[in-house]
Amino acid sequence: MRIDVLTLFPEMFEGVFSSSILGKARDKEIVSLNTVNFRIYSTNKHNTVDDYPYGGGGGMVLKPEPIFGAVEDLPTYTTPEGAPAKPRVILLCPQGETFTQKKAEELAGEQHLVFICGHYEGYDERIRQHLVTDELSVGDYVLTGGEIPAMVIIDSVVRLLPGVLGNEMSAVTDSFSTGLLEYPHYTRPAKFREWEVPEMLLSGHHENVKKWRLKESVIRTLERRPDLLKDRVLSKEEKKWVDEWQKMRQEESTVQEK
Ligand code: SAM
Repeated sequence: MRIDVLTLFPEMFEGVFSSSILGKARDKEIVSLNTVNFRIYSTNKHNTVDDYPYGGGGGMVLKPEPIFGAVEDLPTYTTPEGAPAKPRVILLCPQGETFTQKKAEELAGEQHLVFICGHYEGYDERIRQHLVTDELSVGDYVLTGGEIPAMVIIDSVVRLLPGVLGNEMSAVTDSFSTGLLEYPHYTRPAKFREWEVPEMLLSGHHENVKKWRLKESVIRTLERRPDLLKDRVLSKEEKKWVDEWQKMRQEESTVQEK
């Protein structure tokens, strides 16, 4: 996969792209991570990339020329089979579709991703209309620039590429990948202060441990993110756990009311 990030602050990416899992993926040549300072594509003598909004109002607007110029000048990425790969051009903006694990999985199937990081008040609308293929937001809040959202998305996509995570299974059981939140984890010591690891995990009985983990995942999702269960077709066993949990909660609230 090739990833190009258009930004006015390429130095922000240096540490992130060379550390931890992203750095390893880059060293193993699973992904090529590049930044482009689109200021070099400015078409005026002062190298400006923004201008006042037509119609007045506060804030500056990113001009179309440098961003179109930078995207159109990117090298065409060729797939291992030699075919040109059309890039997904992703605009980071709080008005975009909210980024999810499902979207990360979809993007992990692409060959070439281009991220456009905004700053200031916004973008000239023609960038949205005629250049980008996707608009993504990392949540309902406003940040200063698109750099941190781009890092968030790139990290979550790259860790899904084959060969990036040491243990391929660790992404498979992650929260959201299964449609549920992940089950609780424990490690040595079996007793820390007065708190003991659930006995089931020490039993060595793989099937029972698997079932315990699924139950914990279902309950945890029910408690923290019931919205995720809305579209899940529950197995008979899962339904039983949900019913038991709801009954328990009802009894607790009756006791509290008394
Ligand atoms: N005036 C814009 C609005 O109300 O939609 C917000 C501009 S924000 C200060 C500057 C840039 O930060 C945006 O163009 C975008 O690239 C980035 N940004 C801010 N919040 C974001 C979010 N939640 N998700 C993705 N990008 C965001």
